[in-house]
Amino acid sequence: MKQKTLFPSVLLIIVSVLLFCGMFLHFVQVLRDNLRYDTGITLRETARQGVNTLHAVTEGHLRTLRFIAARLTDMALSDPDAMVKQLQAILKLRKDKRLGFVLTDGRIFTTDGDTMPAASGLWRASLEGQEQISDPLRDCRDGQSVNLYIVPMFKEGNPVGALFSVIPHDDFSRHLVTTFWQDEGFSFLIKKDGSVIAPSRRVEAAGIVNYISTLAALPQTGHALAARVQRALDSGSTEFLQYSTSGNRYVYLMPVGINDWSLVSVLPAHMAEDRLRSVMLGTGMLGAVQILCILAFIWHINRVQYNASTRLWQQVYVDTLTEGCSYTRFLMKASEQLNELPGRWALMSLDIDNFKLVNSILDQETGNATLLKLYRLLRAWAGKPHELVARHTGDVFVALLPLTGQKQLEQRLDELCSQILHTRVDENDSYRLVPSIGICLLPEHALRDAPLETWLDQSTLARRTVKGNHEQLYAFFDESMESIIRYRKNIENDMVSALAREEFEIYYQSKHAASDGRLVGAEALVRWQRNGVQVPPCDFIAEFERNGFIVNMDRYVFLRVCRQIREWRKAGLEPVPVSVNISRLNLYDPGFVERYLRMLDVAEGDRKLLQLEITESVLLENASLITDTVSRLRAQGVTILIDDFGTGYSAMSMLKEVKVDGVKLDKSFLVGMGSPRTDTLLRSIIGMCRSLDMEVTVEGVETAHEVAFLRSLGCDTIQGYYFSRPSPAAVFTAMLQEAQPHD
Ligand code: C2E
Ligand code: MG
Ligand code: MG
Repeated sequence: MKQKTLFPSVLLIIVSVLLFCGMFLHFVQVLRDNLRYDTGITLRETARQGVNTLHAVTEGHLRTLRFIAARLTDMALSDPDAMVKQLQAILKLRKDKRLGFVLTDGRIFTTDGDTMPAASGLWRASLEGQEQISDPLRDCRDGQSVNLYIVPMFKEGNPVGALFSVIPHDDFSRHLVTTFWQDEGFSFLIKKDGSVIAPSRRVEAAGIVNYISTLAALPQTGHALAARVQRALDSGSTEFLQYSTSGNRYVYLMPVGINDWSLVSVLPAHMAEDRLRSVMLGTGMLGAVQILCILAFIWHINRVQYNASTRLWQQVYVDTLTEGCSYTRFLMKASEQLNELPGRWALMSLDIDNFKLVNSILDQETGNATLLKLYRLLRAWAGKPHELVARHTGDVFVALLPLTGQKQLEQRLDELCSQILHTRVDENDSYRLVPSIGICLLPEHALRDAPLETWLDQSTLARRTVKGNHEQLYAFFDESMESIIRYRKNIENDMVSALAREEFEIYYQSKHAASDGRLVGAEALVRWQRNGVQVPPCDFIAEFERNGFIVNMDRYVFLRVCRQIREWRKAGLEPVPVSVNISRLNLYDPGFVERYLRMLDVAEGDRKLLQLEITESVLLENASLITDTVSRLRAQGVTILIDDFGTGYSAMSMLKEVKVDGVKLDKSFLVGMGSPRTDTLLRSIIGMCRSLDMEVTVEGVETAHEVAFLRSLGCDTIQGYYFSRPSPAAVFTAMLQEAQPHD
């Protein structure tokens, strides 16, 4: 089960991690592209700024020269020396290295009297009216690198000379924005041929003299890069490059618009990549946190799911009371075993007679503890391999056992019954547990013939046939049981309406004094007139005891007998005491004594004339309860007789505790009559009862010989076919009439 829930979770984790990694890589790529684009924009802006600065600086110089030229051209033409002096005065106010002018006749005048570097090309263009800025030139005086700014001088619209200024090249580069971006980026100027004209400290440090050659020297892509730059320089267009030297670099190339100069702005890529790395790190950590959250969420879901399924598993597969295997699990395991393991099997159904009484006499807690005890007992009993036990419902247990042989199984069942009979429910041993067990012996491959439920139904059926039968505690299913059960079901369906329709008729069987045969009493015995057929009590009493209806029927019989006695009185007859059979179930009813006394009063019954017969076995079931009930009834003047005395387990010892008015010996005592053993037994029982002041009645007496013998033993009362069979009320009334004392 755990594996089943684990697999989708692991799959989910793998898929989400893969998905995350994919998304992360894609994100990094997008980020890289964006960063490249951003860097391009930044570099372009930096280059543009550099270019603008260059323009501003050069334009400043040119503007000053233009201004001087406009004012002093005439002086230069008329009095060159005065002009020189004028320029010397101006020079003091400026940082130019030297000022001068050239006239169309080729004369050159400078503020320091020096001649100028050969720049005839420049002079020529300026004398033709063009403004000029030279590439760096070597000052012939001190060898310093300088730039020459030249503006033409006009007279009446015609060029008459040119005014020039010599400015150190350093000064020119100083104005160029050479570094940016935390000093990591730098710019420099190159000419069309790639030669550097305004090198910055960084450029010199990098040893770049000609940028094209530097690029071309790069491994692998060097030539291609050099070609791209050369193309851009030739065409005067911008270019954005990314290449690797000792680390990645981004480069922006922008034409300056002065001569053939271009500005190169360089940014080491690590600056940009550091940013990328920190973004990636942040994103990675965020992703990791997300994955952790997902994992925690999955773990939590798993845990909740596992707990829920464990709870469900327990609800379905564990019996709450015994904490053992549930009925559902039993069915599953039993089906599995029957399908997979060869051989024959026995399916067993077990319950305890009137277990509900344990709950009502004692309490629910004791009831549950008893069921647990029973489960453990069964578990220990069926502890061999492949033996299964489970509680079905209430006090019903089921078991599946490999069948080794019916005889062996019977032995084991005897053992089990004996163990259950000896199980103490509580310390006072207040209730005897009597099991009913039904067994169904399954054919080979039973589940091919019928589903498991059918076989279980059959074991339940077999169990019902022995329910309430304390002589036989287990039965094996056979086909005939179905009709018995069907018959019982019919009885159960009809019983309530039968009582309402008064189909139960009371027969009376006389009791006679052993000494002289006088009519001294009667026993009320019920008969069911069902659909015109008389049904004897043995066919329905047990079923009524099983389903509890016996309590209603006993009350009915009791009231009918009360009525009968009143009728006899009304008819002027002197009634004899009539005993009524009271089922053991009545005795477990806490209100039983009060109810019967009230019924007696309402029916104006005579307490001396209504006797109650209680079967002996009930004394063994719950002695303390019966002792209490019997003594309360006797205290109210009700006569109590123990019926079927001596048939069950020996009840002799019970007589010490339960005081009753009389006992009725079952006819089975007469079976061996004549043999010394039986005679001695009978004699001693009768003697003992009499000595305990109890009246002795013997039932089932059929012959005069038996009567004579019982009389000789000192028996008090005799009941049996010898005197009369159970008879309808009218017949018995006639007997009573005849037996009336004659005045
Ligand atoms: P029981 O109380 O022991 O009644 C005596 C049974 O022995 C009666 O059977 C009676 O007909 C039978 N019997 C009497 N004399 C002879 C005889 O000489 N020879 C033979 N073979 N049998 C004799 P019955 O009427 O069939 O009743 C059977 C059992 O049904 C009763 O046994 C009693 O336990 C139960 N029963 C009958 N009526 C009632 C009733 O109203 N309430 C309850 N709870 N049980 C009843
Ligand atoms: Mg009886
Ligand atoms: Mg009897």
